Amino acid sequence: MSRLDRIFVAGHRGMVGSAIARKLRDRGDATVITRTRSELDLADQAQVRTFFANEKIDQIYLAAAHVGGIMANNTYPAEFIYQNLMIQTNIIHEAWRAGVEKLLFLGSSCIYPRLASQPMAEDSLLTGVLEQTNEPYAIAKIAGIKLCESYNRQYGTDYRSVMPTNLYGTGDNYDAEKSHVIPGLLRRFHDAKESAASEVVIWGTGKPMREFLYVDDMAEACLHVMDLNIDTYRKNTQPMLSHINVGTGEDLTIRELAIIIADVVGYRGPIAFDSTKPDGTPRKVMDVSRLHNLGWRARIGLREGLALAYADFLTSTRR
Ligand code: GDP
Repeated sequence: MSRLDRIFVAGHRGMVGSAIARKLRDRGDATVITRTRSELDLADQAQVRTFFANEKIDQIYLAAAHVGGIMANNTYPAEFIYQNLMIQTNIIHEAWRAGVEKLLFLGSSCIYPRLASQPMAEDSLLTGVLEQTNEPYAIAKIAGIKLCESYNRQYGTDYRSVMPTNLYGTGDNYDAEKSHVIPGLLRRFHDAKESAASEVVIWGTGKPMREFLYVDDMAEACLHVMDLNIDTYRKNTQPMLSHINVGTGEDLTIRELAIIIADVVGYRGPIAFDSTKPDGTPRKVMDVSRLHNLGWRARIGLREGLALAYADFLTSTRR
């Protein structure tokens, strides 16, 4: 009897990691391995080495990361660069040492230059200056892609990378200050509706444009890319440009987003803009032709996803 593949989902308590673990368990053709932070500190090299020596892992989804929205990135830059560099370096290096052949590294669309031409294609990486508010995080994620590519080139591993656009959905962080725009606004509009507040204030000018992908779509894309035949993957990528964008390819302004969220939540009052808060990158939308060529496209539309996210927010506030 052949043994089931042992798949380690690093970061299974996070929004993306938990969606990946759910999809893998639903599929039911592998043993899914997870560890909480108190069981395994991924920033500690010795612990990570012992874990891989004992667990005989076949595949890794590297979804563990220190993440946050524009204010958190701007306020805690040291934590963002240190934690992410440590987590990914420990996992990638110790996975290679233990003979793990397949790994999928999850990055972010903020790896691209602040003024990259839009939509952003994979080959705009390292062609310009990064957005200041999250540069330390972006540098760590770029290092993660380069770690994968370097181990592939020198050691013949099959370590792949996907760069998601802004994600949202089940398991998001709904903190009003430290979260990303969708969970932050779901909370603020909900609280305003409940307290009959006189207005809701949106950070920045409302003019920046963003693209959003529901997390279950992201998890599905991750499994798709991990499972691609190696020849198909290599034919559609290059050894030193191996990452794949994951998104919808469609964007909207923060103002337009706010209006849809207000509608989904049922808030009918006025919306104001606080232009003393940072806007971040003016526009961020992915060129997803590489992913489309590889046979995957997003399925969950923004309004449908926001309704699912609001339901998740309501559940999480009741817990
Ligand atoms: P970014 O894509 O890295 O800039 O991440 P965010 O999701 O944190 O922010 C996206 C855009 O939404 C930025 O232009 C923010 O200024 C704007 N924004 C408006 N209101 C909020 C809010 O309540 N929370 C956050 N995080 N961003 C907001």
